[in-house]
Amino acid sequence: AKSEGRDTYRFYEHAMGLEARSRRIMEHELRHAVTRNEFHLVYQPQKKLDNGELIGYEALLRWQHPERGNVSPGIFIPVAEDSGTIVPIGEWVLRTACQAAAGWKSNLMIAVNVSAVQLHSMNFAQTVHRILLETGLSPHRLEIEITETALVRDMHRALTTLRQLKALGIRVAMDDFGTGYSSLSNLRAFPFDKIKIDGSFIRQVDTNEQAATIVRAVLGIGRGLGLPVLAEGVETSGELSFLAKELCQIGQGYYLGRPSPLDDLQEDDIQAEEK
Ligand code: C2E
Ligand code: CA
Ligand code: CA
Ligand code: CA
Repeated sequence: AKSEGRDTYRFYEHAMGLEARSRRIMEHELRHAVTRNEFHLVYQPQKKLDNGELIGYEALLRWQHPERGNVSPGIFIPVAEDSGTIVPIGEWVLRTACQAAAGWKSNLMIAVNVSAVQLHSMNFAQTVHRILLETGLSPHRLEIEITETALVRDMHRALTTLRQLKALGIRVAMDDFGTGYSSLSNLRAFPFDKIKIDGSFIRQVDTNEQAATIVRAVLGIGRGLGLPVLAEGVETSGELSFLAKELCQIGQGYYLGRPSPLDDLQEDDIQAEEK
């Protein structure tokens, strides 16, 4: 109806200050988006900074709404989290990403974002295990990216789930390090395999002394703990050379490669199996 369209429109205009009705519309749309094939994944390369070698891809969710076109995950993921639909959506993301990676001839990693609600959902580790068996992907090729928000909800439960995932052979990266509920004690309390420095610290790291100091400190923490550090949001050659000079191991960002659909990934990189 006309009024519904207007409400929906208003929703997209103000992602944060949602009205209950607009939110309900989107929740409803999200509940059907998986079965209506409105989601797809794009894949962004993660590269070693010393030699430029591709090590894997992060899968990023895209929602192609039939009327409104591409909706940003920054808008719809919080709604999916609040309403719980992130659980089936997240399961679709995991299965689709693992299926894609299992089809590559090379042993590249696939990194998948897992939200707090998903991590704390019933039998999450079992779900992941089942998806690995279904798709045939080796657990060592799967990395789960979680933010610290996922940990603070229920630290004990989060630790149990992370240990179950690690027991399967899956790697776990701390996403958006330095933002949000960031706390250094989380690095000690949880069995992370990688630190991802948030892109906001990488912006102008080569020209801004404050940013440089913070990034150097995070790299020092990573070295001390024996954890590789990935810099997110690398956008310029200046940022890249600063990071390489400071011995940051891995980078991701528009300068190293944009997120792109599976079909557009370099043939050489993924060497897709014969179809
Ligand atoms: P994130 O996990 O921190 O993902 C990185 C975001 O930075 C992505 O935005 C990516 O497209 C963007 N990005 C990559 N390189 C650059 C760069 O050089 N400059 C700038 N300015 N941005 C860059 P995107 O795809 O819009 O995703 C936004 C957030 O939505 C993600 O942040 C993640 O928190 C969430 N998200 C995306 N896909 C999923 C998913 O499948 N599940 C869950 N739970 N969350 C997801
Ligand atoms: Ca991420
Ligand atoms: Ca991130
Ligand atoms: Ca983020």
